[in-house]
Amino acid sequence: MLKAFKYRLYPTREQARKMSDTLWLCSILYNRCLAARRDAWQNGRKTITKFDQMAALPELKRQDERFHRVHSQVLQDVVKRLDRAFQAFFRRVKAGEKPGYPRFRSARRCDSFTYPQAPSGCQSQGNKLVLSKIGTVKVKLHRPIQGKVKTVTVRQQADGWYASFACEVKPSVLPASEEVVGVDLGLENFDITSDGEVFENPRHLRRAERNLKRLQRQVCRREKGGNRRKKAVKQLAKAHLHVANQRKDNAHKIARALVNRYGYIFGEDLNVKGMVHNRHLAGAIHDAGWGVFLGILPGKAEEAGRYVGAEEPYRSSQECSDCGEHVPKPLAQRWHSCPRCGLSIHRDVNAARNILKRGLKRLGRVA
Ligand SMILES: [Zn+2]
Repeated sequence: MLKAFKYRLYPTREQARKMSDTLWLCSILYNRCLAARRDAWQNGRKTITKFDQMAALPELKRQDERFHRVHSQVLQDVVKRLDRAFQAFFRRVKAGEKPGYPRFRSARRCDSFTYPQAPSGCQSQGNKLVLSKIGTVKVKLHRPIQGKVKTVTVRQQADGWYASFACEVKPSVLPASEEVVGVDLGLENFDITSDGEVFENPRHLRRAERNLKRLQRQVCRREKGGNRRKKAVKQLAKAHLHVANQRKDNAHKIARALVNRYGYIFGEDLNVKGMVHNRHLAGAIHDAGWGVFLGILPGKAEEAGRYVGAEEPYRSSQECSDCGEHVPKPLAQRWHSCPRCGLSIHRDVNAARNILKRGLKRLGRVA
């Protein structure tokens, strides 16, 4: 299985310029290839494949000198990325959805490039990363790389440059566990399990989220086009990144704790069609945290040989988890008291138990 290891890069000014230049050229290539595919289809109902476009790269380089400034496999990867966008588009068309046609990318929306066949074009040497066409870039290896490096992706973020190594590692399967659990992400800054275990969001994450809200208001207040607004936008981007990183850390910890103990883990499915989206900011933050968690959990579970299920969340907090009675309650009411069977537990534990019940039922098992 593939596991990602991400490190901060410390490029010189000249190296950073070359990396920005690479991003820019990659966006140009992406848009050209997209236009070629679209035009071929519109003008003659012809399909251009990624193999056609990769085979055309040497000719493109002969015609346009600038592309010599980018490693050839990095260019090939741009063609493959576009192809993935098309494959996803075709898949969704086939599934009867109405997806948007792959879109052109502004240079600003293009924030990474990949060396797809490491160590070709990119070699890791201690605290240095030798990148073809860029140079020998300093890298901070705060933890060791494990396994065999397959690809290296260089990414520009609000606070600097990073390199992600995708490595082939052996999954470390944990001893089997028959224990089952349901998880509900509560609105009060914590996740709670069907066993009543509470994972509280750390204080620094809450503080960072408050700071994010403050900066968001600041950007809204400042005049469009002004320098003060530009500065605030930059600060906001950094705060977003900071919160995203902390959410990830926290999600890693919770996922690790759950995976170590439980063989079957069930959570709410946020992708349920027609689900009412939360319009409150608190709700949006809650959804964002849950989304990050759901992005991390399956990978960890797979590595450990655990099962993860995403369950229909409809009315999970309104239904009694013991007898199934419909017990309506406003959001402010934090306790579930069932008039029919007398069950009296925290609202979110009740929801987590319902999620667990639904998961077990779907798998044909009994709670
Ligand atoms: Zn009941």
